[in-house]
Amino acid sequence: MLKIKNYVMPTTIEEAYELNKKSSSRILGGCGWIKMTKNPIGTAIDLSALALDQIEEKEDCFVIGAMVSLRQLECHEGLNQMTQGAVRECVRHIVGVQFRNCATVGGSIFGRFGFSDVLTCFLALNTEVELYPSGKIPLSEFVCQPKNREILTHIIIKKEPCEMVYLSQRNSATDFPVLACAVAWKNGRMTACVGARPMRAKAVVDETQLIQDYANEKECEQFAEMVAKTLRFQSNMRASAEYREYIAKVLIKRACRIMAQRRNGR
Ligand SMILES: Cc1cc2nc3c(=O)[nH]c(=O)nc-3n(C[C@H](O)[C@H](O)[C@H](O)COP(=O)(O)OP(=O)(O)OC[C@H]3O[C@@H](n4cnc5c(N)ncnc54)[C@H](O)[C@@H]3O)c2cc1C
Repeated sequence: MLKIKNYVMPTTIEEAYELNKKSSSRILGGCGWIKMTKNPIGTAIDLSALALDQIEEKEDCFVIGAMVSLRQLECHEGLNQMTQGAVRECVRHIVGVQFRNCATVGGSIFGRFGFSDVLTCFLALNTEVELYPSGKIPLSEFVCQPKNREILTHIIIKKEPCEMVYLSQRNSATDFPVLACAVAWKNGRMTACVGARPMRAKAVVDETQLIQDYANEKECEQFAEMVAKTLRFQSNMRASAEYREYIAKVLIKRACRIMAQRRNGR
């Protein structure tokens, strides 16, 4: 059972950061993950009073507070319009609505879980994280950093024209993904981000423009092969490395086909 000694709800981010400097302190998101851990918490820091629970749509970006729930992402019209429902699709399989009403985007991104659908989806977009006190950095940089005592306050997704498909493979509904895959066509170039390999998600950009037109199945196949060769896959209790590599190629090609079908209005 998880034991918490003190519980505080700071009213400023400075206060939260000061409290979090102690190694026995812990920031609370929705506690979906924390509640499964056993390490006792000295001071549990609840960010609920810091107004971080809103998604703000600006002219050039979406600013997502760290305490925004996965359900808010799922239901957000603007985000889902820009990504053709990819954001909704990436969270839709996570446990159930009640869980998604509690689990936060901050906990999901700060956790940098290998299996994370949210991380996989956001890495395929032009995304930054805002940390207190160090400021903004690209999400791609943040995922490679070791965990420290900073606080994630916001996630910023830049608005840009994109076509996007999110797909995942699960052994059974609502289980952790065996493989997660976000494919995005931006500025005439394809990006495939593959998570749950089972390592953290990584994005591969089609720098040499293997794909000129995503309706061309041969080009998509070459791109899928290139992505699978570039990334490493490993085995765990859910699937073997070979199976994951195979599924990655299938999902990338399938995502391209869905984009082509959408374009043809089918
Ligand atoms: C049974 C189960 C099944 C799941 N299945 C999936 C799945 O299929 N796909 C998927 O993508 N995810 C899955 N998840 C993960 C889930 O979606 C959340 O990512 C997870 O619960 C963490 O979010 P939280 O809000 O609950 O964070 P918490 O559990 O509260 O926190 C997680 C960690 O992040 C830290 N933290 C939280 N917020 C901040 C912040 N703002 N700044 C700094 N540190 C912070 C905490 O201190 C803690 O270390 C699953 C989780 C569970 C428990």
